[in-house]
Amino acid sequence: MSENTVSYRLGNAVITRIVETQFPLAFNTLYPAALEDMDEAVARRKLPVDFTAAQEITLSVHSWLIDMDGLKILIDTGIGNHKPRPFSALFHQLENPFLQRLAAAGAAPEDIDYVLLTHLHTDHVGWNTRWVDGAWQPTFPKAKYVLPRTELEYFFTPAGEKRRMLFDDSILPVICTNQAVVMAADGGEILPGIAFHPAPGHSAGHMIISLRSGGHEAIFSGDAMHSPLQVARPEWGSTYCLDLRTALASRLALLEQAAQNNALILPAHFPGASAGYVMREGDGYAWRYAQTPAKLK
Ligand SMILES: [Zn+2]
Repeated sequence: MSENTVSYRLGNAVITRIVETQFPLAFNTLYPAALEDMDEAVARRKLPVDFTAAQEITLSVHSWLIDMDGLKILIDTGIGNHKPRPFSALFHQLENPFLQRLAAAGAAPEDIDYVLLTHLHTDHVGWNTRWVDGAWQPTFPKAKYVLPRTELEYFFTPAGEKRRMLFDDSILPVICTNQAVVMAADGGEILPGIAFHPAPGHSAGHMIISLRSGGHEAIFSGDAMHSPLQVARPEWGSTYCLDLRTALASRLALLEQAAQNNALILPAHFPGASAGYVMREGDGYAWRYAQTPAKLK
């Protein structure tokens, strides 16, 4: 396993982070509306005391690999290699050893049984496909790809039109090979113990994915939050969110569920150990990173 690899055990499941890339973003780029609130936030000591608005926030882009009951399941598929993304220098024509890292975690592309997608943004669908023999082809030839219905439909709205290139190179190829499964807008169980739940706002049909095993709960929270700062300050909406008010309602519901159930939260972009727990603190919430266990084979 590479040094980038961290694994968590939850009941029968082993969950391994597969890192694609990391990059820094200026605080006020990620949370443009937060600055006026900063003094009060620091004064209430809900943030790390050395935090200042000038700081950069590191975002990780990774997938989560679940190994459970003989199945290998990938949650979200990052940005992908060689994809033309003229709207974002961060995502344009990348070349990252994602599949090598997946192999180091014990999974070849043909081993993946399911790909579960929280939403259909450019940094979550990229490795759905790769360029082979002059065409974008499914990276995971035996996998079912589960796509939220509202996300799929969004590509065909006027607002979604400008992201059609994602659909063409990362979604359409898995539809053409009959590998796509559409998840109903109100969610539901896709495999025993694994279910989709609506958590809209970041995008039109954003969903979170719960995993229950051995009496424990984990939640793959996608982009309901982009950094641990939003646990302390859920009202800080990210610049990437479509509907800030709806995103806030989804985030608050997630935080309450996480705190109540002591669920392991596995977000799509938190750096460091990337996963952790939400606790009630005062009239709000606090984040604690999970301890990564000894490396698992
Ligand atoms: Zn994202």
